[in-house]
Amino acid sequence: MSAVLSLSRSLIPGKESVLEEAQRFLVGGVNSPVRAFRDVGGDPLVLVRAAGAEVVDHHGQTFLDFIAGWGAVVLGHNPPVVVEALRRGLDQGVLFGLTHPAEVELARLIVEAVPSVEQVRFMASGTEACLTAVKLARAHTGRTKVLIFEGCYHGHGETLMAGRSAGIPQAAAQDVVQVPFNDRGAFEAAVERYGRELACVIIEPVAANMGVVVPEPGILARIRNLTSRYGILLIFDEVVTGFRVGPGGAQALFGVTPDLTVFGKVIGGGLPIGAVGAPKRLMQHLAPEGEVFHAGTFAGHPLSMAAGVAVLRELNARAPYERLEQLAARLAQGLAASAQAHGIPIQVNRVGSMGTVFFSETPVRNQADAMASRQDQFAQWAKRLRAQGVLVSPSPREALFLTGAHTDAHIERLIHASEAAFHAMGE
Ligand code: PMP
Repeated sequence: MSAVLSLSRSLIPGKESVLEEAQRFLVGGVNSPVRAFRDVGGDPLVLVRAAGAEVVDHHGQTFLDFIAGWGAVVLGHNPPVVVEALRRGLDQGVLFGLTHPAEVELARLIVEAVPSVEQVRFMASGTEACLTAVKLARAHTGRTKVLIFEGCYHGHGETLMAGRSAGIPQAAAQDVVQVPFNDRGAFEAAVERYGRELACVIIEPVAANMGVVVPEPGILARIRNLTSRYGILLIFDEVVTGFRVGPGGAQALFGVTPDLTVFGKVIGGGLPIGAVGAPKRLMQHLAPEGEVFHAGTFAGHPLSMAAGVAVLRELNARAPYERLEQLAARLAQGLAASAQAHGIPIQVNRVGSMGTVFFSETPVRNQADAMASRQDQFAQWAKRLRAQGVLVSPSPREALFLTGAHTDAHIERLIHASEAAFHAMGE
């Protein structure tokens, strides 16, 4: 055997062994916990290719995909505009480590689409962007406490994961005030109690990390109102909703203007990205203008910028939002009708092209409701879909996403596959 062949054999495990090798060399066989499929059961999927609405595993099986890179690939997998942009980017150079035109262009596209944003700082992940936004808020207000909502996720930075992960000093929890999502009374009481100590309130304006939970009418406006009154900065974490629920994100959809916005996912066109955006007077706290330190070897990475520019230009040229709304509405209606026909109570929580199917008789308005839903039924549904070549998020605490690559036929296929799953589950 030639040296090259044996090298490639050892680097590319055989089809049968890749899962075993993943278990050996990666923690739990994955690089991000939800990929282990532990909430629904079954082996982790090993994917080798993705195009449009489909992904292919290492056995060569094709799946219709509604995970969509956890919402990042809003146009679907590998759209030609992104592939072309990346090819041009590769020709120009993978990493400059200094300012380049594509990052200026991506910032301009975000500023033009999101009126609350005048300046942008790019970084490598949503996690990094959330913790930078909180640091900036603390510097601006001179306060330390942060109010977060149960079930919202803002990356795995220390403050924002206090009480939710091992390895975080007890002291961090003292800086965090947590209230249930959609609980106006609890929010008002917390602000009344801690108002002048709170640097910021951070919220997913449409929650996507306890499954999708929609903000009740008026609650975001109430949060805006009270935070302004107490001099607390309001941070919208639009890592999921930015450029997904519409070009101006959730803030445009609900007509509520935050002080700081965090972006990620869609704006990187499928490549690593995070960003903080705000009016210039707030962004000026960041180094080199101000005293809040943030830096990054990969901040404004040329390939992420190139892919992001390509996607945002495409969204401007051919906005998919109306079509996505129609597809998603048909999907929600089809799933609800089919579940009802089989006597399985579900709630479809949805805003535009992001949604979650909760197996629950009652509406899901917060994390307690989400946890009380039938996760065993979700697991059965997801597993039976996978067996029929359809992938939904392998956890009821994640969202299902439609993309510009999904067609009416894809939606009907998910409804039909669910019909078969509900039929089997109802027996
Ligand atoms: N905020 C929200 C709302 C998210 O959904 C996520 C990731 N799913 C993050 C922040 C963290 O982003 P990243 O995974 O890029 O660190």
